[in-house]
Amino acid sequence: MSQKRGCCNNNCKAYKDHEKFKHDVNFCPNCGQKLESVCGSHSCNMVMGEDPHKYCRKCQAKRDDRRDKAKNYIAGASAGIAGGAALVAKHGGPALEQAKKIAAILANRR
Ligand SMILES: [Zn+2]
Ligand SMILES: [Zn+2]
Repeated sequence: MSQKRGCCNNNCKAYKDHEKFKHDVNFCPNCGQKLESVCGSHSCNMVMGEDPHKYCRKCQAKRDDRRDKAKNYIAGASAGIAGGAALVAKHGGPALEQAKKIAAILANRR
Protein backbone atom coordinates (compact mmCIF):
# COMPACT_ATOMS: atom_id res chain seq x y z
CA MET A 1 0.00 0.00 0.00
CA SER A 2 1.54 3.30 -1.02
CA GLN A 3 1.07 6.12 1.40
CA LYS A 4 0.88 9.73 0.41
CA ARG A 5 3.51 12.16 1.54
CA GLY A 6 2.97 15.58 2.90
CA CYS A 7 4.96 18.56 4.12
CA CYS A 8 4.96 18.99 7.90
CA ASN A 9 6.24 22.56 7.90
CA ASN A 10 3.23 24.46 9.14
CA ASN A 11 4.52 27.67 7.57
CA CYS A 12 4.55 26.05 4.15
CA LYS A 13 1.87 26.50 1.53
CA ALA A 14 1.90 22.77 0.76
CA TYR A 15 1.08 22.05 4.40
CA LYS A 16 -1.65 24.65 4.57
CA ASP A 17 -3.22 23.39 1.33
CA HIS A 18 -2.94 19.77 2.53
CA GLU A 19 -1.00 19.09 -0.63
CA LYS A 20 -0.14 15.41 -1.09
CA PHE A 21 2.85 14.01 -2.98
CA LYS A 22 3.66 10.58 -4.35
CA HIS A 23 5.58 8.32 -1.98
CA ASP A 24 8.74 8.56 -4.10
CA VAL A 25 8.98 12.34 -3.65
CA ASN A 26 11.28 12.95 -0.69
CA PHE A 27 11.39 16.70 -0.29
CA CYS A 28 8.78 19.41 -0.42
CA PRO A 29 9.00 21.34 -3.72
CA ASN A 30 7.79 24.45 -1.88
CA CYS A 31 10.07 24.68 1.14
CA GLY A 32 12.57 21.83 0.70
CA GLN A 33 11.67 20.16 3.98
CA LYS A 34 11.75 16.36 4.12
CA LEU A 35 8.30 14.97 3.46
CA GLU A 36 6.60 12.60 5.89
CA SER A 37 4.10 9.85 5.22
CA VAL A 38 0.74 11.35 5.97
CA CYS A 39 -2.88 10.31 6.01
CA GLY A 40 -4.21 9.92 2.45
CA SER A 41 -7.39 11.80 3.24
CA HIS A 42 -7.96 15.28 1.81
CA SER A 43 -7.74 18.05 4.42
CA CYS A 44 -5.86 15.83 6.86
CA ASN A 45 -2.14 16.19 7.58
CA MET A 46 -1.86 13.49 10.22
CA VAL A 47 1.69 12.09 10.17
CA MET A 48 1.56 8.32 9.90
CA GLY A 49 5.14 7.58 11.03
CA GLU A 50 5.59 3.80 11.26
CA ASP A 51 1.88 3.21 10.74
CA PRO A 52 1.55 1.34 7.41
CA HIS A 53 -2.10 2.24 6.90
CA LYS A 54 -3.15 4.66 4.23
CA TYR A 55 -5.46 6.69 6.45
CA CYS A 56 -5.16 7.80 10.04
CA ARG A 57 -7.50 6.16 12.55
CA LYS A 58 -9.88 9.07 12.55
CA CYS A 59 -10.27 9.13 8.76
CA GLN A 60 -10.37 5.32 8.57
CA ALA A 61 -13.22 5.22 11.06
CA LYS A 62 -15.07 7.77 8.97
CA ARG A 63 -14.52 5.70 5.82
CA ASP A 64 -15.59 2.47 7.51
CA ASP A 65 -18.71 4.19 8.69
CA ARG A 66 -19.53 5.34 5.17
CA ARG A 67 -18.75 1.94 3.64
CA ASP A 68 -20.89 0.24 6.24
CA LYS A 69 -23.85 2.41 5.41
CA ALA A 70 -23.33 1.84 1.68
CA LYS A 71 -23.19 -1.91 2.25
CA ASN A 72 -26.43 -1.87 4.20
CA TYR A 73 -28.02 0.16 1.47
CA ILE A 74 -26.92 -2.22 -1.30
CA ALA A 75 -27.98 -5.27 0.72
CA GLY A 76 -31.35 -3.64 1.26
CA ALA A 77 -31.78 -2.85 -2.42
CA SER A 78 -31.01 -6.41 -3.55
CA ALA A 79 -33.28 -7.93 -0.91
CA GLY A 80 -36.23 -6.09 -2.38
CA ILE A 81 -38.19 -3.15 -1.09
CA ALA A 82 -39.76 -4.99 1.84
CA GLY A 83 -36.44 -6.47 2.90
CA GLY A 84 -34.75 -3.11 2.45
CA ALA A 85 -37.28 -1.38 4.65
CA ALA A 86 -36.73 -3.97 7.36
CA LEU A 87 -32.98 -3.52 7.06
CA VAL A 88 -33.20 0.24 7.32
CA ALA A 89 -35.40 -0.17 10.38
CA LYS A 90 -32.80 -2.52 11.84
CA HIS A 91 -29.62 -0.66 10.90
CA GLY A 92 -30.88 2.88 10.99
CA GLY A 93 -31.48 2.32 14.71
CA PRO A 94 -29.35 3.30 17.67
CA ALA A 95 -26.06 5.03 16.94
CA LEU A 96 -24.60 2.83 19.66
CA GLU A 97 -24.78 -0.23 17.41
CA GLN A 98 -22.91 1.63 14.68
CA ALA A 99 -20.24 2.72 17.14
CA LYS A 100 -19.81 -0.85 18.39
CA LYS A 101 -19.37 -2.07 14.83
CA ILE A 102 -16.67 0.51 14.12
CA ALA A 103 -14.89 -0.36 17.35
CA ALA A 104 -14.91 -4.04 16.34
CA ILE A 105 -13.52 -3.22 12.88
CA LEU A 106 -10.73 -1.12 14.37
CA ALA A 107 -9.91 -3.81 16.95
CA ASN A 108 -9.59 -6.45 14.22
CA ARG A 109 -7.27 -4.31 12.18
CA ARG A 110 -4.69 -3.77 14.91
ZN1 LIG B 1 6.76 22.47 2.42
ZN1 LIG C 1 -6.63 11.50 8.47
